[in-house]
Amino acid sequence: MKTKAAVLYEYGSPLVVDELELAAPKEREVLVKNKAAGLCHTDLSVIKGAVRMPPLPCIPGHEGAGVIQEVGSGVTKIKPGDSVLLMWVPICGQCYYCLRGQPYLCAEKDKTRSGTMLDGTCRLRKGNQNIHSMLGVGCFSEYNVVSERSVLPIDPSIPFDLAAVAGCGVITGVGAVINKAKVKAGSTVAVMGAGGVGLNVIQGAVLANATKILAIDILDRKLELAKFFGATHVINASREDPLKKVMEITQGIGVDYAFEAIGNAETTLTTYQMIRRGGCAVVVGVPDLEAKLTLPLYEIPLLEKSILGCNYGAGEPRIDLITLLELYKAGRIHLEKLVTQRYCLEEINAGFKDMEAGRNARGMIIYS
Ligand SMILES: [Zn+2]
Ligand SMILES: [Zn+2]
Repeated sequence: MKTKAAVLYEYGSPLVVDELELAAPKEREVLVKNKAAGLCHTDLSVIKGAVRMPPLPCIPGHEGAGVIQEVGSGVTKIKPGDSVLLMWVPICGQCYYCLRGQPYLCAEKDKTRSGTMLDGTCRLRKGNQNIHSMLGVGCFSEYNVVSERSVLPIDPSIPFDLAAVAGCGVITGVGAVINKAKVKAGSTVAVMGAGGVGLNVIQGAVLANATKILAIDILDRKLELAKFFGATHVINASREDPLKKVMEITQGIGVDYAFEAIGNAETTLTTYQMIRRGGCAVVVGVPDLEAKLTLPLYEIPLLEKSILGCNYGAGEPRIDLITLLELYKAGRIHLEKLVTQRYCLEEINAGFKDMEAGRNARGMIIYS
């Protein structure tokens, strides 16, 4: 069949909305009609070539939701018509990481990181050229074929754009707080960056009953959103020294937990400096592959400051994503306010420009 998709042919150049050939799903694969796909900062990093993930040409997009159209042989748990959320780790359940309770690090990730199906081949083509799909899902395509392990059936009453945003921004931010940092009730939390992930760190800190939640950004409109999501203090780093301000608010102690949700070496260092003795800094933002971090090493043993990495919410995504959607239905987390602008596929480059200008919490592609 044919599908319309936004293709990255060259790093640093705009996506090209093109018509591609899509092969039918093979064994244990499914054909998805995407309904919504979020614009995540990691997509922009791939487009710019800062994160050279799948070989080119490729379809970026890893935060999506849609409807199953067709299933390949051996697929038993999903059927045409099911609403699904796309998962960017095709959890196998039996590798070294899965068996140790870290399915978000599943070894199968190494295959989809190269932009192919689990059997190493591609389903999308332009003429004779294979087109790769970012993380095995490539959501910036109206239709795509993915592994059955890359889809999670969801409650069909949940709007697709809200399910999509849960699939990366929400699970990443909330998971960092609940699963990785394990923020204790009564804690102080700082968040560097109040974008799609940072706002969800704030929601996570609210769920964890943190008492002070400090949001840092350089844009007032993002800080306004941060307040809506539960920040108790906001710091505009373009006007105030964020470290000084955090120390002031915490009576010179520093915060118990700080989260970096930008992906920048300089702001990661500031995030680390904000934590108190015995505190914990969690790096959630994805930096350029060349970025390096220099820390005063003595602080790690003597002040017992720790720095942790966190990917995909550091939990069991198949459980956590459903839990997040249930929390949304129960009115305990916000999803609507995360989606600040909707675009059609043809407007995708404008959507990324808006992202770069800091105009969106989440921009969302809506397929007709
Ligand atoms: Zn993402
Ligand atoms: Zn695994």
